[in-house]
Amino acid sequence: STKTCHKCGHKNNNITLKDRQWNCPKCGTHHERYHNAAINILNEGLKTLKTEPRGPGG
Ligand SMILES: [Zn+2]
Repeated sequence: STKTCHKCGHKNNNITLKDRQWNCPKCGTHHERYHNAAINILNEGLKTLKTEPRGPGG
């Protein structure tokens, strides 16, 4: 989600809807909400691909 740091995985629950950007209190990475969300979605997608069992002949 937009609240999760894609670098260290820290969840920042202090973010409100009006915060378009934030700094991770744990690793200090600067995040822009939509960009960070996009990266997290991408990471989730990659994870899903990796854990998916291979079909026959895979
Ligand atoms: Zn972080």
